[in-house]
Amino acid sequence: MISFAASVPVPRRRRRAPAVAVVLALVLLASGATAGLLWAGQIPGATAIPVFDAPPGADDGILVTSVSILDIDEPAISRLDPTLRDAVGQAADAAADDGIVMEITSGWRSARYQQLMLDEAITTYGSAAEASRWVASPETSAHVSGRAVDVGPLDAQFWMMEHGARWGLCQIYANERWHYELATTPGGMCPDQRMDAAG
Ligand SMILES: [Zn+2]
Repeated sequence: MISFAASVPVPRRRRRAPAVAVVLALVLLASGATAGLLWAGQIPGATAIPVFDAPPGADDGILVTSVSILDIDEPAISRLDPTLRDAVGQAADAAADDGIVMEITSGWRSARYQQLMLDEAITTYGSAAEASRWVASPETSAHVSGRAVDVGPLDAQFWMMEHGARWGLCQIYANERWHYELATTPGGMCPDQRMDAAG
C-alpha cells in the first residue's frame, strides 16, 4: 500500500525543519537575552533606567484623551490651581458662545510624569539642551505646580490667543501656542512671550 504522505518528499523537509527551528530559537534567545540585560541596566556603561513602582497613569495627570475643564474626576483637572481652573472655565464658556469647543490636552502633572516627558524629549531631540526648549524639568514646570493648561484643538488655541487675556490667561512661550497660564490681571496686558521654555 502506498500512502499519499509517502509520495511527497516529506523526509527531506522534515530534516530541514529542525535546523531552521534551531536557528530561529537561537536568534530569539539572543535578542531576548539582550533585551533582558538592557532592561536590567546590566550592560557596562549603560545609563540608569528610572525606576517607577507602577507605570504612570491618571493619578499622575496623564490624559488618554483631551477632556473638559469641568472634568474634575481627572487629577489633571482637579489638581489644577483653582483660580486657574475657574479662569479657564469662564474662557471655555465664552468660547462655546462663539461655537468653539475648548478642550484640555494636559493640565496638572506629577513630578515623575514630567520627568518621564523630559527623558522622552531628550531621546527625541537628541540633547538635553534642545529638549529643554520644549519640556521643563519637574522643578520648574508650571504643569507640576498646577499653574498651566494646554488647550486644543487649533481653533480653541487661536481663540485663546485673541481672548484669553480677558481672564488673565496668557500664552507664555512663543513656540507653544497651546500652553496657557495666569500671567496678568483679567483684562490686562500679557507679558512679552518667551521664545521657548529654555529662554
Ligand atoms: Zn504646557
